[in-house]
Amino acid sequence: MVPLYEYHCLTCQENFTFRHSYKETISECHLCKSTGCVEKVLSKANIVLKKALSSKEPIGQITNESINDARQDLEIQKKELKKKNK
Ligand SMILES: [Zn+2]
Repeated sequence: MVPLYEYHCLTCQENFTFRHSYKETISECHLCKSTGCVEKVLSKANIVLKKALSSKEPIGQITNESINDARQDLEIQKKELKKKNK
């Protein structure tokens, strides 16, 4: 099973996902074809940290926002699971 990785492109500021093996990395953006400007997105926590570092907002507020986001994601996933079970 090849894992799915999420990347963020600094040139077009978009995220995209790409399947490749654990050992590989990619350097080309699949959206704008720029090279050397993509970075692997490890987790939501990582995005939150970056946001916190580049933002003037208090970190507590950003953390709360991301917790709420994660909660909403979970609720949506739960609802979808329930639908599938019916
Ligand atoms: Zn790009």
